[in-house]
Amino acid sequence: MRLNDFPTFSDSPFFYDRRTISIPQQEQHIVQPHSAPKVAYYHPQGVGNYHYGERHPMRPQRLELTNQLVLGYGLQDKMTMHAPRKATDEELLGFHDSDYIDFLRRVTPKNAGSLANDGAKYSIGENYDCPVFYDMFAFCQQYAGASLAAARKLASGATDIAVNWSGGLHHAKKGEASGFCYVNDIVLGILELLRHQPRVLYIDIDIHHGDGVQEAFYLSNRVLTVSFHKYSADFFPGTGNLSEIGSDLGKYFSLNVPLQDGIDDESYISLFKAVMEPTITNFRPSSIVLQCGADSLGCDRLGTFNLSIAAHGECVRYIKEFGLPLLVLGGGGYRQSSVARCWAYETGVLAGVQLPDDLPPNNYYEFFGPDYKLHPPLTGHIQNLNTKQSLERIRMTIREKLRYLNGAPSVQMQEIPPDLMGFLADEERNKEEREEEEGNADAGEHRDDGKQKHNEWMDREGGDVANGRPIGSTKRPRIKV
Ligand SMILES: [Zn+2]
Repeated sequence: MRLNDFPTFSDSPFFYDRRTISIPQQEQHIVQPHSAPKVAYYHPQGVGNYHYGERHPMRPQRLELTNQLVLGYGLQDKMTMHAPRKATDEELLGFHDSDYIDFLRRVTPKNAGSLANDGAKYSIGENYDCPVFYDMFAFCQQYAGASLAAARKLASGATDIAVNWSGGLHHAKKGEASGFCYVNDIVLGILELLRHQPRVLYIDIDIHHGDGVQEAFYLSNRVLTVSFHKYSADFFPGTGNLSEIGSDLGKYFSLNVPLQDGIDDESYISLFKAVMEPTITNFRPSSIVLQCGADSLGCDRLGTFNLSIAAHGECVRYIKEFGLPLLVLGGGGYRQSSVARCWAYETGVLAGVQLPDDLPPNNYYEFFGPDYKLHPPLTGHIQNLNTKQSLERIRMTIREKLRYLNGAPSVQMQEIPPDLMGFLADEERNKEEREEEEGNADAGEHRDDGKQKHNEWMDREGGDVANGRPIGSTKRPRIKV
């Protein structure tokens, strides 16, 4: 172990890393008090039309159901609406291995048989959780493109909150698919934010551990990851123990809240707030990325928690109230009608609109029977195995770890050298992306030139992103997201 070679956070006023380029101070980018935050909503066109396969629990159609409820409630009048472009290869390579992206691009249901050996290498195919399906790569490009566009908009200061329900695929690894996730749009979005901001907080309320994001930033102290999830040896992905706290520079910058079946609204919300308040106060993030996997709701087909939509949404509201730039993403969720209700409700929370309980007429109205309400009863079906004592023990352990974040890490701030901003020749960028980079953007999602600036914040020696294989258990039970 090299623990003694590195200062812990509390030892040093600056956090050490290997970067050579600094960035302007953007720490004061806080939503103005008394003004409604600006919300930008990203929905890639046709993203609900993909199919993982007849019997597969992941249904992209839930994204269209969500969008229909959002539009049915008239929320488009309270937000800017964006149909983002697809992510380019270069953008995907900001995190993923080129051979892996190459495989994702090449493989089709027709040639999957002849590429089965490669498939096995990347955990993709009929024997894996991640099947090959028609236009799979386009699906990945769409949801990742949306998270990247949302992150760019947020980093530019052109919006306070950005939402992409098609994103949040937190299990994908640098060179491997996992748990229904192929490309990790969250890691890509966070890397985009890190080009402009010193610290990003990642919060994950999916029922599954946010292992792909944790792994990517396990060695970094610029991203603090916090995941609330069910943890047991036989539940996917099998990681997310309290003892996984990060390593090297990233020690104490990964937090895990391992829970048992049936956690109810009251326990979840009080633990969530008890963990998040000191985390945000101590880490002082420049922005927050919130993964809102809806498989933590009661009555999910794969999840075994007992949360109501109101409680899930209360976590979103609580984080919004901190007034920091906020990127909100989807994730798991395997009861389509619940997912759509939940994310529509949370869109309302973010847009500051109270939605009536009667669902509005929409193209998928019949999916929401028999009650046709926004808040159907979802709770009380599973016994709560979390005792007061076990939850208190988790709370105390995490608070203890947070003491090591005594004062936020800092980076030495300088002006961005002009030639860095000019990495892409001006004429290669369209007007929107130029404006976005200058901080007075409107939108950058229409660029289609296949170009992207080099990610200056990525340590060229790999210091920010873990290259290695999994943290904690390398034996992952292959069940579900
Ligand atoms: Zn999940």
